[in-house]
Amino acid sequence: MEKIEQAIAHWKKRTGYHTLSVKAALIDMDGTLYDSMTNHTAAWYRLMTEQGVDCTRDEFYLYEGMTGASTITRLWKRQWGLTPTDEQIKELYHRKTLYFNECPRVSPMPGAQSMVAKLLKNNVTTVLVTGSGQPSVLDRLSGEFPGAFDENHRVTARNVTHGKPHPEPYLKGMTLVGTEPWESIAIENAPIGVESAVASGAFTIALTTGPIPAEALEAAGADLVLPSMESLDLLIDRLCSIH
Ligand code: CA
Repeated sequence: MEKIEQAIAHWKKRTGYHTLSVKAALIDMDGTLYDSMTNHTAAWYRLMTEQGVDCTRDEFYLYEGMTGASTITRLWKRQWGLTPTDEQIKELYHRKTLYFNECPRVSPMPGAQSMVAKLLKNNVTTVLVTGSGQPSVLDRLSGEFPGAFDENHRVTARNVTHGKPHPEPYLKGMTLVGTEPWESIAIENAPIGVESAVASGAFTIALTTGPIPAEALEAAGADLVLPSMESLDLLIDRLCSIH
């Protein structure tokens, strides 16, 4: 279990905190709890190519975690040097949602339901921290992760002024359940989300669940990088028992 100890040493060094005592787990949704990134990248790619924006399917993995408005603004600026209006953003994001809903139904990430159940068994409070406002997935949380992400345990695109990579979403998650950074772990899968979690001071775990390589997650500052949600599921009881 040397890997966990090394990761905690990394976290202590960068934050200056002395003890990790896990009381809350702040968890990203797309690509972490749900295997939904293939659908998101397909929907974004379809929307943007229709618009005449030059882009690749894979680049949308890198924008993962950003709010939809930020992604749209970024690509418009790059393509035409234009900033879309709020009305245009709203219309485009609505279309992106329609395209997402036409994709095959997404499944919980293998290992995620078991991992979340273990957190609850260890009396760790769970909070969803997502840049997504995708109702089709948000609506399924209560059924597929019972007792974990009720309405008052969610930070979504609607609740924040600054989306990831700003620390606000993770700090807001801590405020929501009354925990400090040294009592909080964050679970992410994308560099922008990792940056947000790291900046909040939470012990940050990154999972490689798609084409983003481990090196990119390490470079974003993750304290612990694991190859899958299943591998986190195997370690979570031990992490919860560290004091
Ligand atoms: Ca994600």
